[in-house]
Amino acid sequence: MRHPPDTTSPIRPRLPSPVRDVADPWLADRGVALRLKRDDLIHPLMPGNKWRKLTPNLRAAVERGHTRLLTFGGAYSNHIRAVAAAGAAYGLSTVGVVRGDELAAAPRNWSLARAEAHGMELAFVTRSAYRETLRGLSEDDSGTLRALEERWGRAYVLPEGGTNVLAARGAAELVAELPDLGPGDVVCCAVGTGGTLAGIAAALPAGARAVGFAVLKGAEGYLEGEVAALHERGWGRVFDSWRIEHGYHGGGYGRVPAELEAFAAEFEERHGVRLERRYVAKLLWGVYGLVERGELPPGSRVTAVITGPPDPEDPAGSTGSAGGARPGA
Ligand SMILES: *Cc1c(COP(=O)(O)O)cnc(C)c1O
Repeated sequence: MRHPPDTTSPIRPRLPSPVRDVADPWLADRGVALRLKRDDLIHPLMPGNKWRKLTPNLRAAVERGHTRLLTFGGAYSNHIRAVAAAGAAYGLSTVGVVRGDELAAAPRNWSLARAEAHGMELAFVTRSAYRETLRGLSEDDSGTLRALEERWGRAYVLPEGGTNVLAARGAAELVAELPDLGPGDVVCCAVGTGGTLAGIAAALPAGARAVGFAVLKGAEGYLEGEVAALHERGWGRVFDSWRIEHGYHGGGYGRVPAELEAFAAEFEERHGVRLERRYVAKLLWGVYGLVERGELPPGSRVTAVITGPPDPEDPAGSTGSAGGARPGA
């Protein structure tokens, strides 16, 4: 079920996103070709996989007569910012439930300040309340839904990170923009919730493979289960074209160890692309790691999906920007 590129969206995307070859002698010596699928350039306010995952959900929300979006995220959530911008563009009000009640009294970081600037109403909740609500939603618990509606009124609820079947189908469309994929091709992306990887894997032609790189620590088994569940719900089948690498999270979400930082800085310097650190740098670090370990045999062509742009270098202009480049958790 592929939609044509969305030209009716109030947010006008740059699609298909550009594909750029990376000339790297170290990779060439090992027989591996690398190209970047620049989804980070799709739109400045709804970049990367956020545009792909949200757009089908926004259509569904409007079709079902919703006037409000409700979603969840951490203090520096790219998803929260994208939903705020999307709501403003589509004329939907937005609520962001944010993990961490201590943030309520603190000056807004740049990311939350931007969400508020797009009109999003922020609700700060304790970590345990946040966890409980997400658990209730994932289990389709009617009490959880009722409590949210009582507090916020009727709303289209997007899960944390925006991943659901519609989102995965939206992510699948990026594969249609790579018509030359075939045996020997490996499409690689970062994995937060797994929605992007699930969509890509489901859309691959025979012989092509997908590798996701987990950015969370200790998510072995869990993330594979999430991707498989999306395939089951969205496509009614399992796919064996994908796997998740767990060796490149760098110590956990938002952690950037010195070795990863050095890799990212060198890549930026050599290839003239700035890398977002929480997801994209880990993905590319992992690709080079697999090549080094001989797990991408000569003749492989890797398409690395650049799922988002780097954080602003100078998030000034919003209050409380200290430490803004690093997510707290
Ligand atoms: C949200 C995000 C991801 C995670 O995507 P999932 O579909 O949740 O796995 C990856 N990269 C960037 C830049 C993101 O903002």
